[in-house]
Amino acid sequence: MTTQQPSFTYDALPMRVVFGAGSLAQIPHEAERLGLRRLLVLSTPVQQALAEHAGTLLEDACVGRFTEAGMHVPADVAAAAVKAAREADADGCLAIGGGSTIGLGKAIALETGLPVISVPTTYAGSEMTPIWGLTENGRKRTGRDRSVLPRSVVYDPELTLGLPVDMSVTSGFNAVAHAVEALYAPDASPIISLMAEEGVRSLATALPAIVEDPHSLQARSDALRGAWLCGACLGATTMSLHHKLCHILGGTFDLPHADTHTVLLPYVAAFNLPAAPAAEQALRRALATDDVPEHLARTSIELGAPRSLADIGLTEEDLSEVVSQAVGQPYANPRPVTSDALRSLLTDVLHGALAP
Ligand code: NAD
Repeated sequence: MTTQQPSFTYDALPMRVVFGAGSLAQIPHEAERLGLRRLLVLSTPVQQALAEHAGTLLEDACVGRFTEAGMHVPADVAAAAVKAAREADADGCLAIGGGSTIGLGKAIALETGLPVISVPTTYAGSEMTPIWGLTENGRKRTGRDRSVLPRSVVYDPELTLGLPVDMSVTSGFNAVAHAVEALYAPDASPIISLMAEEGVRSLATALPAIVEDPHSLQARSDALRGAWLCGACLGATTMSLHHKLCHILGGTFDLPHADTHTVLLPYVAAFNLPAAPAAEQALRRALATDDVPEHLARTSIELGAPRSLADIGLTEEDLSEVVSQAVGQPYANPRPVTSDALRSLLTDVLHGALAP
């Protein structure tokens, strides 16, 4: 007997992806394809040397570098970058780095309409989404706008060989979280569910291999491929409780983005998966386990991730504010979320109740 396919709407995002070891060399070609001749190269201060190198590859098509990108795209940094783009008469940006740098490219695109080429060097997945974010006075605003979706994304696993192992692990779990929530999203669809399952499978293989040998190009390629798939899921669906909580914990309590995702994910999975059986089945297949929350908690800790929200700076006194913000804002979730249930979930994460 076959089960009827639930109804769905699938709105494909236009995405051009160039993937492969050494593909950074393709950026001049990507710029040319888009008709861009005056690119501003963006990076964080930490990745300045990489920005220099990208600028060198672009030759005359690089008109400057802005290397002050920062976590959660501070509004004053975005304003300075827009000014730099205008003063350089740039006709586009090349954002090379993690979610913070790609977020800066999106902020420039939102203000000026300039197209962005992205070269991701973490597994956060921002390059695959039309979601922008800007932080001002301790509050992060986010929105969706097709104009900020990068026109071309160049994934070069060689650029991730130096991503520190702890960041590789938590950034990888950040990507897995996108796939988990895409699998039970109200706007899930068959193609996205396939991508989500395969993305999780790819990362589940790659992350232990990276911990064993951070310089394995095979492991780095598998992880980046998984990150691409999971990022595409994030871009195509509506996220639920997990992403809402991470947004609050990052925006209001300044907890580190990827660590927060990693610590929280097993607990939200334990809460939501009983109400999302198809998602649970897909994750069981991808992770080769019968107990998805236990597997996520155990493997993340075995790979060196933090064990609890207390480990990354949250306190018991902060919980009421998180609960009040989370229940005060409407969002999709496969299970209704009450204040009591949320407090109990957060108390468990605070103390690492699922940690082995
Ligand atoms: P990040 O971009 O803040 O990077 C952290 C640090 O690591 C930076 O100093 C960076 O320069 C450095 N780094 C990055 N790649 C490196 C590499 N390969 N080798 C050595 N150092 C490297 O961290 P992130 O986790 O990628 O991004 C987090 C930010 O992205 C958050 O602000 C989050 O909200 C945002 N984000 C947005 C979306 C979206 O769709 N809009 C999706 C995911 C994340």
